[in-house]
Amino acid sequence: MHGVVTSVERLTPSLVRVVLGGDGLSGFWPDAGETPDTDAYVNLALPPAGADYGPVFDPAEVKETHPRELQPARRRYTVRAWDPDALLLTLDFVVHGDEGAAGALAASARPGDVLVLTGPGSGYRPDPSADVHLLVGDESAVPAIAVALESLPAGARAVVRLVCDGPDHELALVTRADADVAWVHRTPEDPTPLPAAVAALARPEGRVHAFVHGEADEVREIRRHLLGTWGLARSDMSCSPYWRRTMTDEAWRAVKREYVKAMDADA
Ligand SMILES: Cc1cc2nc3c(=O)[nH]c(=O)nc-3n(C[C@H](O)[C@H](O)[C@H](O)COP(=O)(O)OP(=O)(O)OC[C@H]3O[C@@H](n4cnc5c(N)ncnc54)[C@H](O)[C@@H]3O)c2cc1C
Repeated sequence: MHGVVTSVERLTPSLVRVVLGGDGLSGFWPDAGETPDTDAYVNLALPPAGADYGPVFDPAEVKETHPRELQPARRRYTVRAWDPDALLLTLDFVVHGDEGAAGALAASARPGDVLVLTGPGSGYRPDPSADVHLLVGDESAVPAIAVALESLPAGARAVVRLVCDGPDHELALVTRADADVAWVHRTPEDPTPLPAAVAALARPEGRVHAFVHGEADEVREIRRHLLGTWGLARSDMSCSPYWRRTMTDEAWRAVKREYVKAMDADA
């Protein structure tokens, strides 16, 4: 499956929206009638410089036919929006300097570029029977949190804590729910203020359904707090370490299984 870039928009200094379109996306969402999970994601396959295939290719075939150094980089991105009638798929990329395959690619993407992808996969949607929805994350989780907020009906209660680099990095979020939304900002003195922002919250009354996705060590610290201090049931939490500071996605995937195992065992 592949999409052709139809537009590129800088939403904030660190977030770039890329909209993909074209017949290469037909059948992207097999069950169009079903309400999708709010954290659906695609696997992008990004060819390295010098690859003798592409721009449209079959990742499974390349895996069989090409050496390791010519394999595409694999990166996961949340489906921010999917329009099945217009065949338009919206992805929001964090641009974090010149490093990395995906962030840098999004920063320089132009209409007409092609992106090969597989998916979607997913795992979370706000549980309508919960009393409160807690949504926590960094910029990489903003797309999934934005989709979750848009899906909540009027009368639902949400508490949202997000982290970014400063006021101009904040994004307006739309919801019909009764939502307490606050952003915290990284500073040189405090580069990871999100766990403290969650620790500062009073535990809401009733059953809390939590979505905590973003940088691995921050997600883990917040999960420990929700388990230990708030006493949330493990089954009421979706906690996913999307990326790990100082590690490329390749390095992270090599150790992620063990990390998640240890995280799941946290008391
Ligand atoms: C299910 C899922 C859904 C995701 N959805 C999104 C999404 O919608 N949008 C999105 O931007 N990301 C999303 N991510 C995270 C994204 O896949 C990773 O951040 C990925 O590592 C980015 O790849 P890269 O090639 O830009 O950087 P890499 O080559 O992987 O890393 C290069 C360097 O940049 C650092 N880095 C990686 N990501 C970030 C970041 N967000 N902020 C600061 N530094 C970083 C790394 O630690 C490393 O030092 C998702 C991840 C998962 C598992």
